Formats: sequence, C-alpha cells, structure tokens
Amino acid sequence: MSDHSHPSQCKQLLGSLSDYIDGELQAQLCAEIEEHLKECNNCRIVVNTLRKTVELYEKTTDQAELPESVRERLFLKLDLADYLKKP
Ligand SMILES: [Zn+2]
Repeated sequence: MSDHSHPSQCKQLLGSLSDYIDGELQAQLCAEIEEHLKECNNCRIVVNTLRKTVELYEKTTDQAELPESVRERLFLKLDLADYLKKP
C-alpha cells in the first residue's frame, strides 16, 4: 500500500539527496539519511537509482560531476523535481 507521493519525513530527506549523492552533505545529515534509508524502502530505491545513474554518467562521460541540466531531468524523471528546489 504505497502511492507515489512521499511522506513529509521523506520529503525533508529527499531535499538533501542531491548533496548527499555528491558527498557534499554534512556527516550528521548523511547519518540521518542513512538511518532513514534503513527503514524506508521507498527512499532507498530513489537513492539507489540516483546513485547508479550518477555513477553510470560519470563512467560513460568521464565527467566528475553531473551537470545541473542532467540532474534536473533525472530528478524530474524520478518525480523528485520538487525536492530540488530548496525552501
Ligand atoms: Zn523515506
């Protein structure tokens, strides 16, 4: 029983996902996300998908970082576009 929308707890964490994937997030926030991922299958799938896509991109293009435009499209595809806009 899960619809596609994320609960507010998830929403908060997913807002930091972009930084998390980049490894730019503070250690404490990383720990919070990882803790949440243990319990939340929904977010785990999102993170895994994002991470794999980013890794694949970096491997195939030999670029160290995902351009903002690619990232936006990726988040859009994952229905996470809202989370890119920081409050
Ligand atoms: Zn979650």
